[in-house]
Amino acid sequence: MPDRTPRVLVTGAGGFIGHHLVSFLKERGYWVRGVDVKRPEFAPTEADEFQLLDLRRWANCLEATRNVDDVYALAADMGGMGFISANHAAILHNNVLINTHTLEAARTNGVERYLYTSSACVYPEHLQTDADVTALKEEDAYPAAPQDAYGWEKLVSERLNQHYHDDHDLDTRIVRFHNIYGPLGTWRGGREKAPAALCRKAAEAKLDGEREVEIWGDGEQTRSFCYIDDCVEGIYRLMESGHSEPLNLGRDRMVTINQLVDIIGEAAGIVPEKKHVDGPQGVRGRNSDNTRLKEVLGWAPEIALEDGIQRTYDWIEEQVEAQRSGGASASQTVDPLEPRAAAA
Ligand code: NAD
Repeated sequence: MPDRTPRVLVTGAGGFIGHHLVSFLKERGYWVRGVDVKRPEFAPTEADEFQLLDLRRWANCLEATRNVDDVYALAADMGGMGFISANHAAILHNNVLINTHTLEAARTNGVERYLYTSSACVYPEHLQTDADVTALKEEDAYPAAPQDAYGWEKLVSERLNQHYHDDHDLDTRIVRFHNIYGPLGTWRGGREKAPAALCRKAAEAKLDGEREVEIWGDGEQTRSFCYIDDCVEGIYRLMESGHSEPLNLGRDRMVTINQLVDIIGEAAGIVPEKKHVDGPQGVRGRNSDNTRLKEVLGWAPEIALEDGIQRTYDWIEEQVEAQRSGGASASQTVDPLEPRAAAA
């Protein structure tokens, strides 16, 4: 670290991973500016400065990136499979604007290091058609054929970061997350991802004295899940690493959604009765190949799925109870990106 306190910007600091990353960086002595269109919904931010800015707009990106050494770019219009499969145009439009403007503003303001948060959704659909899938290596992203607009945008923004690295000497990083989960994330309202949605359904069943948990599809689709504490540790290690090529960040233990529901049931203390219904499922199987992650960072995520799910379930059960009693957690009623006005 330099002599003076290093100054960093976290975009998307009102969101799940961004909020946790702000706390992580504050613990390590950084001065942190958080930027988002909304404040964190479940706990106050620890950022030194928090600005409500719509990063689709160029002028806002210039303001957000002034006087900082590093940028962690996490802002995105995103959600779980239900949201991603129903909002292609908005996702592509909004995220291209956010990422193109934030990156160019960072260059204009002389930012030194820039970390872009990509996704396992960049990988080609045809490599993920079996539940018993081969884990995905970074180079598998090409030839490109992501399933959704969300993945295409991530791939384009990855390329943009690589070109800024090569053409403009910006010290860039690209991380591809695989299903990050944990407390303080969206758990209802339509943008929640599978672990949070399934924890909510299990908590509702338990509190109603029932056991039924609804699952989209037959539940035999597979994924790996990475706990939030491992995620922020990995992000930070990557920023410090000097590695500018895309890097997976996830766990490499693959489970079916049915198995995930059983683990959630254990955390809840119920034996879930699985009800399979139609719904968007994403690719059939996906896992992270962590060979390069271990080579580059000398580390890999280590928190067991059972432990992470217990912490996540306990927090979500509290939220469901608080919501039912009309308590503090009656949040997420307003989506700040609705209506999605066209942005300059
Ligand atoms: P999140 O939705 O909780 O956080 C994203 C934040 O970006 C939200 O708070 C949102 O309000 C903000 N945002 C959206 N549009 C904005 C705008 N125009 N201006 C400013 N802020 C805006 O999502 P997350 O899970 O914390 O994800 C963080 C990053 O990681 C995203 O880029 C996401 O695509 C990526 N990612 C996450 C996962 C995962 O499993 N959570 C997986 C792959 C990739």
